[in-house]
Amino acid sequence: MNAIPEALSSAIVTIDLAALQSNWKALAAQARAHSPATETGAAIKGEAYGLGMEAVAKALWSAGCRSFFVARPFEGAQLRAILPEALIFVLDGLYAGQADYYLSHALIPALISLDEAREWAANGKSKPCAVHVDTGINRMGMRADEYADVVAMKDQLHIDLVMSHLACSDEPSHPLNAKQRDLFAKYRAMLPDIPASFANSSGIYLGDGYLYDLVRPGVALYGGNPSPGQPNPMKTVVTLQLKIMQTKIVKQGDTIGYSATWTAPRDSRIALLGAGYRDGIPRKLSWSTDKPAAQVFVAGRRVDIVGRVSMDMMAIDVTDLPEAETARGTLVEIFGPNLPVDEAAAYAGTISYELLTHLGNRYHRRYIGGES
Ligand SMILES: *Cc1c(COP(=O)(O)O)cnc(C)c1O
Repeated sequence: MNAIPEALSSAIVTIDLAALQSNWKALAAQARAHSPATETGAAIKGEAYGLGMEAVAKALWSAGCRSFFVARPFEGAQLRAILPEALIFVLDGLYAGQADYYLSHALIPALISLDEAREWAANGKSKPCAVHVDTGINRMGMRADEYADVVAMKDQLHIDLVMSHLACSDEPSHPLNAKQRDLFAKYRAMLPDIPASFANSSGIYLGDGYLYDLVRPGVALYGGNPSPGQPNPMKTVVTLQLKIMQTKIVKQGDTIGYSATWTAPRDSRIALLGAGYRDGIPRKLSWSTDKPAAQVFVAGRRVDIVGRVSMDMMAIDVTDLPEAETARGTLVEIFGPNLPVDEAAAYAGTISYELLTHLGNRYHRRYIGGES
């Protein structure tokens, strides 16, 4: 994971494990403020949203987290090797014929169909499972009729959790939230003794009626804003910095990069940075006449990205910055404490989730902080 030494790397990803732990505790406190018995778990799929499964899992466990959600079964097996005692839920559900794999790693499938429930009843025997019922996202989860059938066969299953997932929790006033809430309340009443889980990061902030027994935040742990449009209550966890590899003077009228999309409006000083779309820097951050320029943070201020983001590099306009503060090797923040990941994502017309999970493996990765 951290194979590239800092001195030889063009770019650095810093992951603040103390901030991660603090975010988990803040989310747990937020959930408990509405519902004192609510437990806080963690969605840790996709290498913990690109941050690195091992470091994140260990830090969250130390902070007190005991229930983890992965997408794929192999992610569950990877996590099992790191945290022998954790509860590990597999959101993909049960792959046909793979019950033994789940059992051998003590993974809990979040069953998404009647078929899966029957297969687990036949093979998983007395082992725990979760039941994932669809309340309107129309993605994973059982239909109403399948769920009723699973409820009827509950004595053949060891159901540890009944869960559902919100489609619009980041838009508190969206009518689908209340619709899903009411439907989930009805489904939960059909299995009244079984713990329930409904809220992701943003769902925690929807408050009463959404918390239940276990919440499953993901992006907010990693610093994404769970309440868009409001100040972000989370701490910055991930900082992406690119080194200035070269600066060059271009004349007024010169162009930068592929397709010559940006023309210098004056004599300019341009800095080239060592990451591109191969490194998860969205090509949509490229300069374009159609939208305001995307920006980065360097030497205490924000400056524009100019030209096209290419595979291995990108360019910024540092004409207005002191030369000494933009020398070769200077670190430029793409996102971090001075430029929130949600803002960087918005420049590219995407979401923090996508920026974080696309970071790639050509960075020097540095983990800081975090008590164990
Ligand atoms: C990814 C995921 C989560 C976490 O969502 P965030 O929006 O990142 O908090 C929770 N539940 C399910 C089912 C998920 O797929």
